[in-house]
Amino acid sequence: MSAVPFQNVVACLGQPVAGNPTQYMMEKAFAAAGLDDWRYLTFEVPPSKLTDAMQGLRALGFKGANFTIPHKVAVIQFLDGLSQAAELMGAVNCVNRVGERLIGENTDGKGFVQSLREVCDPAGKRIAILGAGGAARAIAVELGLSGAGQIAIVNRSPDRGQQLVDLLRTRVKIAADFVPLQGDYAIPGEADILINATSIGLGDAAARVPVVVDSLRKELIVADVIFNPPDTWLIRTAKERGCRTIDGLGMLVNQAVISFKIWTGQMPDANVMRDALEEFLEL
Ligand code: NDP
Repeated sequence: MSAVPFQNVVACLGQPVAGNPTQYMMEKAFAAAGLDDWRYLTFEVPPSKLTDAMQGLRALGFKGANFTIPHKVAVIQFLDGLSQAAELMGAVNCVNRVGERLIGENTDGKGFVQSLREVCDPAGKRIAILGAGGAARAIAVELGLSGAGQIAIVNRSPDRGQQLVDLLRTRVKIAADFVPLQGDYAIPGEADILINATSIGLGDAAARVPVVVDSLRKELIVADVIFNPPDTWLIRTAKERGCRTIDGLGMLVNQAVISFKIWTGQMPDANVMRDALEEFLEL
């Protein structure tokens, strides 16, 4: 038991949240950092209860929270300010209380870029991203802010794809093109990095991502956002083709590392968090 009368409380709000590994990772990280008076809770909150939940979060003085599906956009109306990345993305996955103000951040894209940096610097690189949903948006904006050379958004629905391209061109000021996803995508010879940011592969290790396998050159860096299971068809196939690969676990750990730092001001032990995640997912 903590000796202090009040605990610092942070939480995850989403629906569905059963099986979300963040609480397990955060609690292990608080313990490893000696932050005995910090607590992380997980709450199942339907959209119809988000207003009440946000009032409760303020009234009870929570230090912050993570927001996951379906609240990443809806939460913005309840906040007092946004980071540059969150404002550009129009989505928030981490809220921090600064005095009485609630400030929205987005750590998804930063978490991805941190994983990528362990393999290469994105500056000047030509990058193909499959998908144009929340994950693709966060990754593309953050890569743009990190100086990527050119980004191709390859998506099934043209409207979403074109909207993201317009955002990258006009707000992030980066060269971007839309490529409609029809059949298998042939990765251009000049591409340096391929990222699967679709939900293909979630819960299905055999799910095939629509790419021409022969266009996976060994010089290509191949990343997948899917973390459960992390050993996706794309990661396995890219490895067989000799590519360097980055699985979705690194992004998940890193976005949590960044949230931890934002709330506590301390760097957590990322290895403790990765071990906790692997233990939770029984990998
Ligand atoms: P969204 O629902 O916002 O977007 C899904 C994207 O996948 C869309 O671009 C959609 O295309 C595309 N898509 C889905 N199914 C198909 C298909 N059969 N063929 C072609 N395209 C398809 O989801 P998010 O962006 O929020 O999440 C995507 C994935 O990223 C999830 O699985 C999530 O678990 C993972 N994720 C991982 C994180 C990590 O830390 N590792 C963090 C955040 C998310 P269309 O627009 O045409 O519908």
